Amino acid sequence: MTVQRITLLGATGSIGASTLDVIARHPDRYQVFALTAHSRVDELARLCRTHSPRVAVVATAEDASRLQTLLQGQSISILHGPDALCQVAASAETDTVMAAIVGAAGLLPTLAAVKAGKRILLANKEALVMSGALFMREVARSGSALLPIDSEHNAIFQCLPGNFSRGLAQVGVERLLLTASGGPFRNWTVEQMQQATPEQAVKHPKWSMGRKISVDSATLMNKGLELIEACWLFGTTPDHVQVVVHPESIVHSLVQYVDGSTLAQLGNPDMRTPIALGLAWPDRVPAGVSALELFATGSLNFEAPDEVRFPCLRLAREAMMAGGTAPAVLNAANEVAVQAFLDGRLRFTDIPALIERTLTELPMMAADELSTILAADRAARAHASRLLPVSV
Ligand code: NAD
Ligand code: MG
Repeated sequence: MTVQRITLLGATGSIGASTLDVIARHPDRYQVFALTAHSRVDELARLCRTHSPRVAVVATAEDASRLQTLLQGQSISILHGPDALCQVAASAETDTVMAAIVGAAGLLPTLAAVKAGKRILLANKEALVMSGALFMREVARSGSALLPIDSEHNAIFQCLPGNFSRGLAQVGVERLLLTASGGPFRNWTVEQMQQATPEQAVKHPKWSMGRKISVDSATLMNKGLELIEACWLFGTTPDHVQVVVHPESIVHSLVQYVDGSTLAQLGNPDMRTPIALGLAWPDRVPAGVSALELFATGSLNFEAPDEVRFPCLRLAREAMMAGGTAPAVLNAANEVAVQAFLDGRLRFTDIPALIERTLTELPMMAADELSTILAADRAARAHASRLLPVSV
């Protein structure tokens, strides 16, 4: 068996930790080539001591020299800055890139990996939301294997036939059902949500995740971004994707076929399952996740999402239907709004309002060029930041 050499973008995050857990279970199959982190230098040093990568990447020269001191005596090259992220993503010394940086910062290194024809384990959904058409064009051009790690998309991938890239209609698919836990505020009124604190919003009932995606799960923007992600990954349109709220988070998503069959993938909510599938595909390897105990699981519930209390889902669908730079603008405004909420500068219920105003007030353009997408991202961040209240 040839050993897969792995670059892990976003090693210090939640997906990063789960990925390293799976990798460490199979030293005969996987070897870490590069680990990257943004600010948690001490944590990266600890990971480097355990997993012995050839290269480590941090944000600044200052962080790099601190990491150098922490790792004295180890033969690890230490690089810094956004260009270094692209360099380790495209390196001839790596086979597989786990894209687990959060937000738009993941776009350029993930694209660099795609252009270099790497096997891509895609956790970072924001990159695909921003640049879907261009991203998928580059995947087709380079022949990269693109494996969805987001649990819903990984579930759909498992429920589709291997030749689904011919077109979903061609393989008999009627629609995709994307499950959503509903987040911590599933049963809250708008009045209650107006008072929601960051601590309440990041306390997800079923999944343990980074702070940004946890807030996105609470607003249902996460499901909106995933709707867009599903359209690009599986070559379909929003009217063929239905969001289903499923509070138990056991059914990770479903595919409905024209003959009346509905296929689902089930499992305990643990990201190591989709990560292991991405790493080993088309094989399967143990992921450290216990098997689903159906007798202990009890009943499974499904309900329609409430787009009045959770407008972010509607905003994402509309942005996808508008096309061009609209999804990039949606994503950028959302990143600004979520950070402002986490910083105590914006009420939870004002997150969708800020995004909607940014989408309405900015011109939309065709998104054929990376430079146009990056310019739309910058303009949306600046615009959304200007709309923020000075204090609340
Ligand atoms: P996290 O906040 O726990 O970790 C984010 C990682 O990105 C960290 O390693 C951080 O150092 C790095 N990072 C942050 N800003 C950066 C920047 N400007 N430049 C370079 N690196 C930067 O996030 P997470 O929960 O692990 O999520 C990572 C991605 O995976 C997100 O896009 C998220 O939507 C997606 N995802 C996560 C989960 C989950 O269960 N956590 C599930 C599905 C998809
Ligand atoms: Mg998901």
